Amino acid sequence: MLDPFGRRVTYLRVSVTDRCDLRCVYCMAETMQFLPKADVLTLEEMERLCAAFVARGVRKIRLTGGEPLVRPNILTLIGGLGRLIGPGGLDELTLTTNGTQLARHAGSLAAAGIRRINVSLDSLDGDRFAAVTRGGSIARVLDGLMAAKAAGLAVKINTVALKGVNDDEYDRLVEWCGSHGFDLCLIETMPMGEVHADRTEQYLPLSQVHRQLGQRWTLQESDWRTGGPARYWTVAETGRRVGFITPMSHNFCESCNRVRVTCTGTLYTCLGQDDAHDLRAPLRAGADGAALAAAIDAAIARKPKGHDFIIDRAARPGSVRHMSVTGG
Ligand code: SAM
Ligand code: SF4
Repeated sequence: MLDPFGRRVTYLRVSVTDRCDLRCVYCMAETMQFLPKADVLTLEEMERLCAAFVARGVRKIRLTGGEPLVRPNILTLIGGLGRLIGPGGLDELTLTTNGTQLARHAGSLAAAGIRRINVSLDSLDGDRFAAVTRGGSIARVLDGLMAAKAAGLAVKINTVALKGVNDDEYDRLVEWCGSHGFDLCLIETMPMGEVHADRTEQYLPLSQVHRQLGQRWTLQESDWRTGGPARYWTVAETGRRVGFITPMSHNFCESCNRVRVTCTGTLYTCLGQDDAHDLRAPLRAGADGAALAAAIDAAIARKPKGHDFIIDRAARPGSVRHMSVTGG
């Protein structure tokens, strides 16, 4: 699938639920109104939709949310998608998770064909972790991470850089990730959805963090790419990678290869734009493979050139959708 700007769309991110067992301050409001069950695609509908994308050339699927592992029976979907891995199908199936349910699921994820996962962890300090997630237990996440490691899953830790919250921890995170064989990716906060917090106060430009880390670690520029916005460096002392996702200070749209489907079957062809294409209606109207493919193609043909996030005290959120709706 080629979009109007010649970019090949090979990567699909699927939000399998808008629900979550944590309430990270930058992601959700304390009290969230979740979607009625009837609006959310069934696991069978999700599998059919994903298969339609794979038939149109998608080679990588990342499951996200909300928290994907809190969706009941999620392993049924993961098992089904795992069977699409192979020549002419998926190159890779991955998952982004907060890690709270990993201890019990890591083995099954590996058995389903998942090789790499991203786990979000904003602090190594239990009290801070509880504050950022509004009540989460770091012990559970650490148990989950050790289970993932034991199951042979490659782990990348995602840390949102938050001024005044975790900006004294990046050194320690690089060291800790190195000692466990995890990669690390630092993410700038993005203005996604109303969270009742002042984003101009949370926002920390990663160029600053990069400079700071460079004083302690030998950062060797790496040409490792995941087709996404992250730029990676190898930490010579640990041999692990550290990546920086800088949507606010660096434009990455020119190499964008991805689209997103929400748990209601809405296709967004750009994270930062409100262009929505309803795929649930054709799915539920009994569309056959050709009709689904046509609906997908029509949406890709209107993929916007890029996003336009601006963090400004006076401005509304850059996108009205929460990240937990579109999937991070
Ligand atoms: N619950 C899972 C998790 O936390 O990994 C998957 C969904 S979560 C929305 C995916 C990623 O988006 C997480 O790494 C999270 O830190 C990040 N995220 C959420 N809201 C964000 C925001 N406003 N700016 C930057 N990253 C955000
Ligand atoms: Fe939940 Fe992930 Fe959002 Fe945190 S970032 S509230 S874990 S969906």
